[in-house]
Order: sequence, then C-alpha cells, then structure tokens
Amino acid sequence: MTEQKSSLYEEALKPLKDAADVLKLEPEIVDALSNPEKALIVSMPIRMDNGKIKVFTGYRVQHNTARGPAKGGIRYHPSVCLDEVKSLAFWMSIKNAVVGIPYGGGKGGITCNPKELSRGELERLTRSYAAAIAYFVGPDQDVPAPDVGTNAQIMGWFTDEYCKIMGKYLLGVITSKPLSIGGSRGREAATGRGAFFVTLEAAKTFNIPLKGARVSIQGYGNVAQPIAQYLYEMGCKIVAVSDSVGGAYNPEGMHPVKLAEFKEKTRSVKGFPGSQEIGVTDPITVDCDILIPAALENQITKENADKVKAKLIVEEANGPTTVEADKILLEKGVVVVPDVLANAGGVTVSYFEWVQNRMGYYWSDEEIDEKLKQVMTSAFKEVYQTAKQYQADSFAIKQRLDLRTAAYVTAVKKIVESMQALGRI
Ligand code: NAD
Repeated sequence: MTEQKSSLYEEALKPLKDAADVLKLEPEIVDALSNPEKALIVSMPIRMDNGKIKVFTGYRVQHNTARGPAKGGIRYHPSVCLDEVKSLAFWMSIKNAVVGIPYGGGKGGITCNPKELSRGELERLTRSYAAAIAYFVGPDQDVPAPDVGTNAQIMGWFTDEYCKIMGKYLLGVITSKPLSIGGSRGREAATGRGAFFVTLEAAKTFNIPLKGARVSIQGYGNVAQPIAQYLYEMGCKIVAVSDSVGGAYNPEGMHPVKLAEFKEKTRSVKGFPGSQEIGVTDPITVDCDILIPAALENQITKENADKVKAKLIVEEANGPTTVEADKILLEKGVVVVPDVLANAGGVTVSYFEWVQNRMGYYWSDEEIDEKLKQVMTSAFKEVYQTAKQYQADSFAIKQRLDLRTAAYVTAVKKIVESMQALGRI
C-alpha cells in the first residue's frame, strides 16, 4: 500500500491541533478554524507579446475575518495552487493575531513564472487579476500585499486598476506600495527589523549574551541582510551565510554590508574573501549561538535537526522547520522563535501603512521604528508568558510550552474570542 502524503494545508493545521489541545477547544471550533471562510478562483485570459492568448489561474482566500479585514500577500509562482494559498492564508490569521494587529488572514496568488513574463505581460496579468478580484478585496474587506514573485510596482498596477474600477482613490486596498503612492517608511527592512527586536528579547529572556554571539544565516536575501546588519551592530559575529548558489564560513566573523555588496556583484556569497566555502544548508549545522533560517520552508528536518548547535533559532523564513525537526529541537533544549512571531515585522509595518492611508497622515522613520519595536517586543513577551502559563501533557519534556505552540495558543485564543463575541461560534 502506498503511503498517502498529507497536503500542505493538512500539515499547516497541525500546530492548530496542538494549540486546540492546550486550550481544550471543542471540535466544532477547531473545525471552524480549519476551514477558510471564502475562496475565490479566477481564470484570466491574457494577450501575450506574441499575439496569442494564454489563460492563467488566480486565487484569493480569506481564512478568517473575525479580528478584522483579511490581510496577506499575493504570490506569483508556478507552485501556486488552492492548497498552498489556503495554507498561507491560515498562517496569516495566526501571524496577525500573534502580534495583535486588527486583521484576519488572507492570501492570494497566480500560478505563473514571473521571470518568464515581459513587463507588459506582467502588467496585463496584474490588472486582469485586480479586476477579477476587485469586489472581493478592499480596505475594509481584504488587504493584499507582495509575497514571493511580486513587488512594489505590481502593487502600484493593482492599486491603479482597483481605484479605476471603484472610481475612488482608495490607497488602503493594498500595502507595500511605492512611497509616492502612500507606501510607508521602514517597510523594506521591516521583516528584518522586527526579527531583530524579537531576537533582542529572546536573547535577554534566555540569557544569551549578544556581544560576541556567533550568528549563522541560511539565505542571505531581503529579510536576512538587515538583521545581519543590526546584530553585527550589537557586537554579534556573522560566522556563516549561504544562498541558493553556495555558502561562506569564517569563525572570525564577516562584515554584513561587505557580504551584501559581494553578493550583489557576484550573485552569491560563495567565495567571499577570507571565508571557507560551505554548502547551501551548512549554516544550519555549523557551530554558532544563533541560527537564522531565512531562505525557504522545510530546511531544518529530522535529518539535520540533531546536528544543530545553536542555542537559539529565529525563523525569518516561513515554515523552515518541519514538525519532526521541531520535536528533536525541543528535546535538545534549543529555543525556537517561530516564524509567525519572528517574521511578523513585515505585516506589522504593512498595517502601519494601511493606518496612514486611512488617516491621510504619514509617520517618520523614527515613529515607524518605535511603533514596530513596541509591537514586536510585546508580542514576544505575550507569547513567552503564554508558554510559561500553560503546561501541556503532550509537551511534558519541558516545564513550559515550546514557543511555537505558545504562539498558536496566543493567536487562536484571540481569534476564538472575536468569533464568540460576533456570535459566529
Ligand atoms: P529573497 O529571495 O530575497 O531571499 C531568499 C534567499 O534565500 C536568497 O538569497 C536565495 O538565494 C536564498 N536561497 C534560496 N534557496 C536556498 C537554499 N536552498 N539554501 C540557502 N539559501 C537559499 O526572499 P526574502 O524576501 O528574503 O524571503 C525569505 C523568506 O522569508 C521566505 O520564506 C519568505 O516567505 C519569508 N518572509 C519574507 C518576508 C518579506 O517581507 N520579504 C516577510 C515574512 C516572511
């Protein structure tokens, strides 16, 4: 008999089940949380540059809107399918509730390879998608943003098409827009900055001195480069980094800006002067104090979790640790700050953008940074308190809950309270 592989969505729901056990939720409530409220599938015939028509499929899923409008990015990637978009929308419900911003969870995407599309094709596809989902989204309904394969320009085209259809200048329909059309200061580095604030709190809480701490980072891209810089400024040593091409290791530490410049020039950190060459996944197992997976999902697995030497893992990537690896890390006593908390800085500054758009009044870099620090620091403290408060039989290895389950408990509690207050359950 062949083993039935569970879908990404079924995998995504596993921590929800753990949180439900801790909270002793009734099965009907778990059922309500396990199913997205709405899912829209659209078909878009696009005139390609060669004159032929190609039909693309797009999705928008609203997982839960009890705490506010749905919020979550738009992904352009060949792997986009309903199962993936549902999982991403579910994670957004959790992430937004963990950091306490007044949103539910949503996500969208188009099955396509944006690298193979011309600028004109990309614009026609984006405008067609915006038109197809225009009445499904909106500042009070569902607020998209960029994700893998999309950027500020795509947000600009989306905004334009939406505003034309609605006949109103409604900038709050989407976030991470260019600054000239209502984007927020601080958005670019927000995920890294938010993860940095969380790392500061985690290091303080678990007694990991940052001065001289050795940091290893898998995936030296958008979210990794800012945190490397901030940690370096705190006296940490960046001992290992990698990208999809290769990695660099130097126990004496490497300069984060020089690494970024080298990658920009050569397209990889591989071969960085003074470093020893390592493989793309080696940062996970090198000798270090803090490990930051910042590349893709499923990188820390049951095969390599036992070899992790870090005391603290801060998940900047979404879903970098498998369920089996999580159990191994918990037994080893490694502290894992989960993705739904660690990388929520991006959506938090997206929320600030939406607030500024609605006020028509804009904050300075300093104001954004202060507000982000406040949100991330109190979210970490709340999750840590939850971890100490609940003792779960299934996590009897430790006195406290692991931070992932604690983050889900924190989020699920808030979502359920809102659903109950609305009389939905
Ligand atoms: P990015 O493309 O800028 O960076 C990813 C980096 O990972 C690149 O340098 C790439 O070369 C490298 N990489 C790819 N495959 C690798 C592999 N097998 N081993 C080692 N390195 C590999 O993307 P990003 O925006 O920095 O996103 C990284 C992760 O953070 C993703 O999981 C994303 O979902 C998550 N995230 C991003 C944001 C955001 O604001 N950009 C917010 C929340 C979460």
